[in-house]
Formats: sequence, structure tokens, C-alpha cells
Amino acid sequence: MTARIIDGAAVAAALRARIAAQVAALPYQPGLVVLLVGDDPASAVYVRAKDRAANATGITAETIRLPAHTSQTELLARIAQLNADAAVDGILVQLPLPAHVDSQVLVEAIDPAKDVDGFHPLNVGRLASGRAGLVPCTPRGVMKLLAASAIPVEGARALILGRSTIVGRPMASLLLAANATVTVTHSRTRDLAAECRRADILVSAIGKPELVRGDWIAPGATVIDVGINRLSAGKLVGDVAFAEAVSVAGAITPVPGGVGPMTIACLLENTVLAAQRRRG
Ligand code: NDP
Repeated sequence: MTARIIDGAAVAAALRARIAAQVAALPYQPGLVVLLVGDDPASAVYVRAKDRAANATGITAETIRLPAHTSQTELLARIAQLNADAAVDGILVQLPLPAHVDSQVLVEAIDPAKDVDGFHPLNVGRLASGRAGLVPCTPRGVMKLLAASAIPVEGARALILGRSTIVGRPMASLLLAANATVTVTHSRTRDLAAECRRADILVSAIGKPELVRGDWIAPGATVIDVGINRLSAGKLVGDVAFAEAVSVAGAITPVPGGVGPMTIACLLENTVLAAQRRRG
């Protein structure tokens, strides 16, 4: 058996086209501002990709680049300005931040109505209690990939590797809301392989190159690989050993070209949603 490849780039392109049409019909241009602190090269790449994608859909995107030594007080003042700016619908603080800055303090300072990453405790709480808020982009993108690929979620045994606030936990809330039977695993889980073998849907977000082997996967299962790991030779791989998994799984996302493009498309969608809710 060879798994169906879930083409995240194509699903994301279709979503971006829908967002562009939606934006074109609005009487205003939604505005997104990204705060980038320091010179982490990976962050710079992500931020450029976000800017490009946003501007291509008609969203006004701006990146505020600040030096690594910028104080937490100054960052909080910037966020307060953006909260008060009526033209700004979405605010995103690019992570990771320099060690002297407490990222949670910054996230909590963002107006929850402009929190397009969905990391503010109010949005986290809304998601956990099954109410509509702004939902973190990567897990939101995974749900859209499952829907676009007609993978049944209701009643399915879904297993998530990783329990971060960015991916694993919100992923669990979304799958639970969609009536999957959800298991969340982490670094202290006993016999990860056995847990994986029971899953109809396996979502991996651990950041360990090719940890999940082909014989950990139930025949026909759906494998969503969120992990992005750069090997020393420069090659990008996921958390799943793709060459092994592809001959066992029913459907699988590649890395790159799977979940990554969906994350950015969902950020744009969150920005438009935030704009519509704020501006009526
Ligand atoms: P974190 O480092 O915040 O969390 C990793 C999680 O994986 C933790 O819960 C950790 O467990 C768990 N874990 C680590 N090692 C193991 C192991 N050997 N066995 C089982 N569980 C383990 O990572 P993120 O959630 O931020 O990111 C995860 C991956 O997803 C990364 O590769 C990242 O680059 C990628 N990513 C991709 C995105 C995309 O758009 N495609 C977006 C965001 C992230 P514990 O809690 O016990 O420490």
C-alpha cells in the first residue's frame, strides 16, 4: 500500500485564494503587524513568508524589526500602541524571543481581539471550553487538511505527539471538539510506539527528526507531520520517517509542503476574522 500524499501547499493555495476574494469584498484592508525581536535567521525567513503571503491576499502586513537588546518595557509599550491602533487587526510576536524577555508577559499584553496566534489565555480558555475565539494557526491548519482530505475525525482514535501550547494542546482541543477520541503523548510517555500503533489519526509535533518509524503506524492510518527539523546537511525532515511511513499509512503529509503552508494561510484567515469581528 502506498499512502495518499496530502498536498498542504495546494490546500493552502486554495485557502489563500478564498481569503483574497473575501478581503477584496471588504470595505477596508485588514492590517497585520509582526514584532520581530533580534536576528534569529529562521524567524526572519518565517516573517518574510508571512509578509509576502499577507500582502498577496490584500492584507496590509508590516514587520517591526527591533534589536535583540530591546527591553521588555519597550516591547510592552509597542504592543500597547498597536492595541490602540484602529488600523491594526492582528498582532503577532514572533517566537522565540531573546532570553531576557518573558514571552508569556508579551502574549498576555496583546488585545485578545487582535491575538491572531491564539496564544492569549482568553483565547486558550475559549478553545478549551469549546467556544469560538482565535485558534492557533498550526492546529487550525491541520483540521483543515483533514477536512480537505475527507479524513473522518468523528469517533476516530487520534494520537498527538507533543503537548506544547502552540501545537499539541490546542490540537487536542480541536480534535476533541470534532468528536475524536484523543490521546496526548509527551517525553514521559511509556512505549510511544505502542500508543502510536493504536491511532487512526497520528499528529506528530515533537521536533525530533524521523523519530516515528514506519512500524509505529497502523496500516491505513492518517499521519500528519507537523515537525520541521533541519539536518546537519541542510535537508528538512519531519518527525516521521517518511520513506517508511508512506508504505504503511493511508494518507500522509510531506515535510516540507504539508502542514507548514497551512500555518501561514490560517494566520491570514485569523487576521481577516479578527478584522471582521472588530470592525463589524
Ligand atoms: P516544543 O519543543 O514546544 O514541544 C515539543 C513536545 O514534544 C513536548 O511536549 C515534548 O514533551 C515532546 N517530546 C519531545 N521529545 C519527545 C520524545 N522523544 N517522545 C515524545 N514526546 C517528545 O515544540 P513545538 O510544539 O513548538 O514544535 C514541535 C515541532 O513542530 C517542531 O519541529 C517545530 O519546528 C514544528 N512546528 C511546525 C510548525 C509548522 O507550521 N509546520 C509550526 C509550529 C511548530 P515534554 O512536554 O514532556 O517536554
